[in-house]
Amino acid sequence: MRVSVIGTGYVGLVTGAGLAEKGHHVTCVDTDAAKIARIRRGVPPFHEPGLEELLRRNRARLEPTTDLHRAVLETDVSFIAVGTPVGDGQIDLTAVREASRQIGSALGEKATYHLVVVKSTVVPGTTEQVVLPLLEAASGKQAGVDFGVATNPEFLTEGEAVRDFLRPDRLVLGALDASSLTGLEELYAGFDGAERIRTNLRTAEMIKYASNCLLATAISFSNEIANLGAALGEVDVAEVMRGVHASKYLTVMPSDGSRLRPELAAFLWAGCGFGGSCLPKDLTALIAHGERLGQPMVLLRAVAQVNEQQPDKVVALVRKYFPSLRGVRVAVLGLAFRPETSDMRGSPAIPIVGRLLAEGACVTAYDPAARQEARRIFPDGSVRLCEDLASAIADADVAVLLTRWEEFRRLPDALRATGHAPLLVDARRMLEKTAYERYEGIGL
Ligand code: NAD
Repeated sequence: MRVSVIGTGYVGLVTGAGLAEKGHHVTCVDTDAAKIARIRRGVPPFHEPGLEELLRRNRARLEPTTDLHRAVLETDVSFIAVGTPVGDGQIDLTAVREASRQIGSALGEKATYHLVVVKSTVVPGTTEQVVLPLLEAASGKQAGVDFGVATNPEFLTEGEAVRDFLRPDRLVLGALDASSLTGLEELYAGFDGAERIRTNLRTAEMIKYASNCLLATAISFSNEIANLGAALGEVDVAEVMRGVHASKYLTVMPSDGSRLRPELAAFLWAGCGFGGSCLPKDLTALIAHGERLGQPMVLLRAVAQVNEQQPDKVVALVRKYFPSLRGVRVAVLGLAFRPETSDMRGSPAIPIVGRLLAEGACVTAYDPAARQEARRIFPDGSVRLCEDLASAIADADVAVLLTRWEEFRRLPDALRATGHAPLLVDARRMLEKTAYERYEGIGL
């Protein structure tokens, strides 16, 4: 099929390249001309394993452009994959509205049927109540007659996005009508093995929020247990959670005696809180949506509250050893919100660094991929950004591990090699507590 993808961010570009890999002809559209120029050169605008190769391999089937109008005219399906940030404590649909209007205006000039698919994460009801009316108004045409409308939320994880897109666990196909569903099925014909959930538009939208809010809940649950364990003393949350994971409800026990641990266990683990461009904002957006509908989201409010407190818990661990942080040299290890990405949006590292600086600490930082992002976020030179792990910790009094980069497995040896045994605060409980003499961790 001929597909246009509006927005070439983490989701849009991976979607475009992934659909090209499956044989579709894809036009990737963005308003950001610099981004489009990079993609045209085959260089992804962000760090994502496997994406550069995917772009290179599918060059012939992938056209980057800033011309949305022409892209819609020359394709059969358009994905909306623009950002949906939180603004004023609720979802900001400005980009979705603008993309809908622009697509609608092009549809007005089209003689053939077109399918519009919302891939951006939008609160339940948005496709029907915001996107569809804008498409109709701008095109002068009727949804369900002249064009189809669908919702197809994305579940990829940054850092594993290419694999997630090409081998999805599920395909949520929310459709306005039978023709819209047929279009989606045709688009995803080459994706064997994924569970398909065929449903209406708002249920599809809700599946995305329910999925993300469940993961956020698991993380805040673990952090709350960790914080109570720390207050009690002599309770190690890592052991507690290993015990919880071993339950038959969280471990598959095949008859051959082996044990299979579902990935949910990774979210039932204490740390410095969840971040990223999705979990925090989706949680906030759904809470606000519930309030607006007269359905207060009591549990999810608490999930957000626990998460907001977690950066303070990390700083408090440093303060346990250095009651005043003035002049204390802190090496922050990991700035991206998770490993294998350069994305720092919503990263817990941002409030943690902010608090350390506010208390007078001298902060150095190292992240294997997010240095450029960090330069944008800490532009005033308040944080010394290092090229490698060794220089970040060389003079440090404390090393605070914030992202689970594989490279940090060798941190105990690297800290010993400094010759002055800095304190290690493991805010992810990534390393064994016995791996280093001066070890401190969340929930220990
Ligand atoms: P992003 O901010 O990285 O990218 C959005 C892109 O859209 C930007 O490049 C922007 O320039 C472009 N854009 C905005 N308005 C446009 C317009 N009118 N025409 C053309 N381009 C336009 O966002 P993202 O992280 O890719 O997220 C996109 C959506 O997918 C969001 O709703 C997000 O919640 C959802 N999502 C993200 C992830 C993730 O891991 N990043 C995973 C699943 C779902």
